[in-house]
Parts: sequence; structure tokens; C-alpha cells
Amino acid sequence: MRKYHTLRLILGDQLNPKHSWFENQDDEVLYVMMELRQETDYVRHHIQKIEAFFTAMRRFKDIVASQGHHILYLPIESADNSGSLTEELNKVIRNQEIQRFEYQEPDEYRLDEQLKSFCSKLSIDHRLVSSEHFLTEREDVKELFEGRKQIVMEYFYRHLRQKNDILMVGELPAGGKWNYDSENRKKWKGNPQVPRWRNGKSKKQEFNLNDLNINHIGSEKRTIQFPKDRDESVEVLHHFCKVLLPHFGTYQDAMHTEQPFLFHSLLSFSLNTKMLNPKEVVVRAIEEWNHRPEEISLAQIEGFVRQIIGWREFMRGIYWMEMPTYKSTNFFNHKNPLPDFYWTGKTRMNCLKHAVNNSLDHAYAHHIQRLMVLGNFALLTGVHPDDVDFWFLGVYTDAIEWVQLPNTRGMSQYADGGLLATKPYISSGSYINKMSNYCSECAYNVKTRTDENACPFNSLYWNFLNTNKDKLSSNPRMSMMYRLLDKIPKEELRQLTQRAEAIIAAPDDL
Ligand SMILES: Cc1cc2nc3c(=O)[nH]c(=O)nc-3n(C[C@H](O)[C@H](O)[C@H](O)COP(=O)(O)OP(=O)(O)OC[C@H]3O[C@@H](n4cnc5c(N)ncnc54)[C@H](O)[C@@H]3O)c2cc1C
Ligand code: SF4
Repeated sequence: MRKYHTLRLILGDQLNPKHSWFENQDDEVLYVMMELRQETDYVRHHIQKIEAFFTAMRRFKDIVASQGHHILYLPIESADNSGSLTEELNKVIRNQEIQRFEYQEPDEYRLDEQLKSFCSKLSIDHRLVSSEHFLTEREDVKELFEGRKQIVMEYFYRHLRQKNDILMVGELPAGGKWNYDSENRKKWKGNPQVPRWRNGKSKKQEFNLNDLNINHIGSEKRTIQFPKDRDESVEVLHHFCKVLLPHFGTYQDAMHTEQPFLFHSLLSFSLNTKMLNPKEVVVRAIEEWNHRPEEISLAQIEGFVRQIIGWREFMRGIYWMEMPTYKSTNFFNHKNPLPDFYWTGKTRMNCLKHAVNNSLDHAYAHHIQRLMVLGNFALLTGVHPDDVDFWFLGVYTDAIEWVQLPNTRGMSQYADGGLLATKPYISSGSYINKMSNYCSECAYNVKTRTDENACPFNSLYWNFLNTNKDKLSSNPRMSMMYRLLDKIPKEELRQLTQRAEAIIAAPDDL
């Protein structure tokens, strides 16, 4: 049997064909990729998520092999697949008499620890290399904010724009302003038309998980397919820049019953698996803006750049600064279980019905559905952040812990007590009504607060503020909300509390 000197591990979210590992072909190097039960089973995943990862991994293996590299691929259905990463690595090292083990920096704390511990027991050489993906290092957020009172994404984002010369004119931001968020908050009312989603090449399902007995959620049927290789990812990126970018920022916060994707890019899976590089995505979008400044305003491109080099890199920095303790933060000491309707979509609240069903149907929901509908309801009803994490990590194709956890615990649940967000992202029904058409078709009345038919978000919102007064009222960004709370007559507040408590006790009755 042919033996190799070096074993290089490629994890399921390290599908970057442009990594320097692949620049030169080397007969002494064996690459290894593995489909493992330890990865399918650590949370209850959406079936489309598992299928997306394994399909993308299989296609990546073919690309690497076609370039002449030697690659060993362990499929999930293989009879001698133990399901354990370290057990399988040990087998390969033993069988191939490997003398050196190399791996790319894992993005998840769980895998990072597992591989560190594995390497500490190895009797052969081992080496950790960069994944060559992010614009920042793991510890950059920590270092940038050392000695500062508060960690603010905006400061980090400006720093990265300057450092990487992105949307800059000399020392100044393009257009003279760093942030065009105030221009990006429109409701979508049927116009402009949302162009039909253009898929990647392959529509047929390439992978059958039904025989494997994996405990999963969601449906297999889909109306979109996330790109599963680099060529498809590049195609989706071009489609976004050409067709969707002109309206991206304007309708970034909009929600609509007929349009689950609106002008969103659907690039998160390609980015998180490293099939696309964040710098390349931003450069391509800026190039489009440069060519079509009359059609693509600065507010659109700035809004997009902010998500990729601002929020995405910031979330990663927070994750590495705070793990492992971040995973157990629970500032409000919330204890309630997640309502059952998150798993079924069975509720009369129209906003939640749509946001949950989008998630179950497509393994996707856009940011405002995740934050201001799904996360908002969980926070206002006091759901334990562990339950919230479990759902968010399982349901979305783009969910990988380094980006899911800070978004869920930090941004959406404020479980870190304000480390990441300057105030909790909560709202009554009026925000949802302002940004969507959900309320006009809902069984509940968004305009009322205490009657039997009143929008549940209304009483829940005031009840949350009232219950958490001691924790939140000194936050200057909450002062206006608390001034409004103080103006509510005592009797009305009593009724609001009563209704909110009834909702919290039985959310699945809604
Ligand atoms: C509770 C909650 C959980 C989330 N979980 C995840 C997750 O598991 N994985 C994930 O990739 N994103 C997550 N996000 C962020 C965001 O919702 C998704 O990145 C986005 O909806 C993906 O769809 P898109 O590619 O069409 O994004 P677009 O709206 O087109 O945005 C473009 C890109 O910007 C990046 N981006 C935008 N917002 C964020 C953000 N807050 N954090 C990090 N990157 C961002 C993504 O890479 C995204 O692809 C979460 C947000 C919330 C509120
Ligand atoms: S009325 Fe309330 S529950 Fe119904 S869709 Fe609007 S915000 Fe959601």
C-alpha cells in the first residue's frame, strides 16, 4: 500500500480551493475529509443543513482530487466509520505510517479543543496553519478594545475599513459618512419587483440521508438551494451584485409574507464554508457599485460592506474573546422552554408563523426575521438561552457556532448583559407592523394591548421592561422606553402584566 509522509485534515467548513495548501501538488501529502456522526449529532440539525454540508464536502473532494492531490474521503455511510474525528484520524495515521499531521485553525471552540487535545497526545510532528479566510485574527477584537470601557461594533468596523482601505477616500469614508443605516429602513410594498432567485447549476438532490437514522428537523423540499461549490458560489455572488445589490440596503430590514428572501444575498453558507472569501465578496460588490453609481447608491454598498467586514468579523472576535464562558451566559436568568411552535410553525401569530415556516422550509430566514421576530419573542417570553441556541444552531444551513452563538446569545438574547449589543433588541408589535405586511393578515390586533385579541408582542414588551427595570433602566439607550413605561397608568400596567403572564405560561395556545 502507498504510504504518505504528511496528513492534512480538511474540516467540513474549510472548503477553500484557493488555500495555499493546494498551490503545489505533493505526492508525500495525503488530505483527509470525513463525514462524522459527531458532527451530525451534537445538535438536532435541519436535514437541508446536513445535506448541504455533505454535498459541498463531496464536491470539494472531487475538485481537490481533480487537481492531482491525494485525498482520502470517509463517507458517513461507510461501515467502518466510527463517527469520531480523533478515532478516525488515529486510524489513518497508523495505517499510513504518517509522520506529520497538519490542520487549519478550526473556527469552533469545540473542535479547536478536540484537536488541541489530540495533538498533545501525538508522538509525531503536528502543525496548525491559518485558514486564510478572515480579515482579522481571533484575538483582534480583544486587543482593539483592551482598556476601553465598552466594546462597540461601529468602532471596530471603522478600524477595519481604514486598515483595509475599503470604501475610503484617503483618510475619510467614501461620501463623508461612515454609516448610512438611517436610509436603509424601508418597508417593501410590492415594488421594486424581487427578481427570481437564480440557482446554482444542480437542482437534483445529490445525497440521500433517509437511511441513516439521523435525528433531524425540517423538510427536504426546497425552493432554493444554497450554492454547494465555489463555481456556484461565485455565480450567486455575481447575481447578487448585478440584480439584488441596488436594493439591498433599502429593504434590508423589511419582511413580507410572499418574499422570504427579498434582496438578501444568500451568501452566508458559501462564506461560512470558505468557498468564498469575505474580502473577495466585498471587492466584487464595490466593483459593481463603481460601475453603476446611478443605480447603486452608497447606502446600499455601505450597508452590505458593514455586514461582511463589520458584523461578521466582529462576531468572530467576540466569540474567541469570550469562549468558553459565553456559552453559559444568562443575564436575565431566563428559564422557560422554547415554545413547541418553533418546531412546527403552528401558531396564529402571523409573523412567527411565517418566520418559523421559512426556517423549516428553507433552513433559512433573513436577519430581521431571526432578530426581531424569532429572537424577540423568545427574549420577551423568558426562554432559556440554551434552548434558543439549540434551535438556532440546528435550523439554519449557515449556522456554525462561532457566528450563531454571538448572534443568538449576544445580539438577540442579551444574555451577555450588553457586552455585544448596547441595548436589548426588543420591540412591540408596532415595529413588526412598520417593517412588514404580517399584521394585516394576523389573527391578533397590533393596535391593542390588553384585550383578548391584542397582539401578544405588545403586552410582552411592556412586561419585559417592567420586570427588568433594575437591570436595564440605568442604560442611557433605554431611558426613552422607561419614560414611556412610567407614563402607563397603573391599572393598564396591571392588565398588561396579567396578559403577558398568561402568554408566557402558555405560548403554544396563541
Ligand atoms: C439570532 C440570530 C442568529 C443568527 N445566526 C447566524 C448563523 O448561524 N450563521 C450566520 O452566518 N449568520 C447568522 N446570523 C446573522 C444573519 O442573520 C445571517 O448571516 C444572514 O441572515 C444570512 O443570510 P444572507 O446570506 O442572505 O445575508 P445578507 O442579509 O445578504 O447579508 C450578507 C452577509 O453578511 C453577513 N452578515 C450579516 N449579518 C450578520 C451578522 N449579524 N453576523 C454575522 N454575519 C452577518 C453574512 O455573512 C451574510 O451572508 C444570525 C442572526 C441572528 C439575529
Ligand atoms: S399583530 Fe402581533 S402577532 Fe400578529 S403579526 Fe403583527 S406583530 Fe405578529
